[in-house]
Amino acid sequence: MLKNCLLLFLLLAITACDTTKQPVTRAQMKALATERPKNIILMIGDGMGLSQITAGMYANGNQLELEKFPVIGLQKTHASDNLVTDSAASATAFACGVKTYNGAIGITPDKKPVFSILEEAEKNGLHTGLIATSTIVHATPASFIAHQPLRSMYDEIASDFLKTDIDLFIGGGKKFFDEQRADETSLIPSLERNGYTVSSMLDKEVSDINFKSANKIAHFTANDAPVPAALGREYLTEASTKAASFLKRKSTNGFFLMIEGSQIDWGGHANDTKYIVTEMIDFNKTIGAILKFAKKDKETLVIITADHETGGFAINTDSRMDSIAGAFTSDYHTATMVPVFAYGPGAELFSGIYENTAIYYKMRAAFGFEGAVKK
Ligand code: MG
Ligand code: ZN
Repeated sequence: MLKNCLLLFLLLAITACDTTKQPVTRAQMKALATERPKNIILMIGDGMGLSQITAGMYANGNQLELEKFPVIGLQKTHASDNLVTDSAASATAFACGVKTYNGAIGITPDKKPVFSILEEAEKNGLHTGLIATSTIVHATPASFIAHQPLRSMYDEIASDFLKTDIDLFIGGGKKFFDEQRADETSLIPSLERNGYTVSSMLDKEVSDINFKSANKIAHFTANDAPVPAALGREYLTEASTKAASFLKRKSTNGFFLMIEGSQIDWGGHANDTKYIVTEMIDFNKTIGAILKFAKKDKETLVIITADHETGGFAINTDSRMDSIAGAFTSDYHTATMVPVFAYGPGAELFSGIYENTAIYYKMRAAFGFEGAVKK
């Protein structure tokens, strides 16, 4: 009896440890041994809470690509210093597995840099990419590649791109990479020396990029922030599917790609229902295209989530499917849990309710990365 109790105690202790440090159950680990993804595509809808998803769904004729995802979970978004997170702390949670303070990019609360899943992927011989509809140095993409105490340190974040071997990045923010920087020193010659084919909206559209011949790709879609989808921004779907094929072609060991629908959040900040809906529909189109890629590929795990909800957005009475009467409690983020959707090998890992940091540990387990997590 005593022996049994001791055993039970030990098991509970291990389980408790698992849910905080390594939030993957033994059954899930066992399932991974037979079915592991080669590639992971993480798609983040910034500010995409359940009401944003619902509004997008109704406005899109009562359907979304998200309905095709077999596994759904919920994650707790709070930061280390505030129940209401910002995009820097929450992206650092996904990217690095640590709860940190609002504004922190890839560092702990005591400002120590933490190895990100993208950097770990590189170290393990995988290929990597980042795509956003904000600047590429904005908090969400930045947290996967940079280590800076403040999200507003855009020049420093841009310089951090050169310390990595990322194979592809597409987004706005040309001015943080060229002679418009505070130090008036362009990073573009260094990028080119490192094997990147660098282009921008000044010389080409995403559809003009030669994904077949390039070794590494850096493309700027805007000098600063790209315009909203409603004003004609349409590159996300094409950039994402071509990037996935580009990375697949390059990689024998697999790839990690993060795609962000950045401006759903901006619609929330602006308390603008139409802005939220048009950005949701743009993101939905990209989700559909990536799901199609993953269905054909069969070795890709697709995870879709948000970093937090924005606006305390609600769908009020007087709403119709084709005309959402949105209401807001805030022009900032809220602390409500946000959904996670998963498809492909390893998808089962993402059911349940867990901390945002668990996304990092689940991706790491899915990839089979081992050893200490250190920068
Ligand atoms: Mg963002
Ligand atoms: Zn925001």
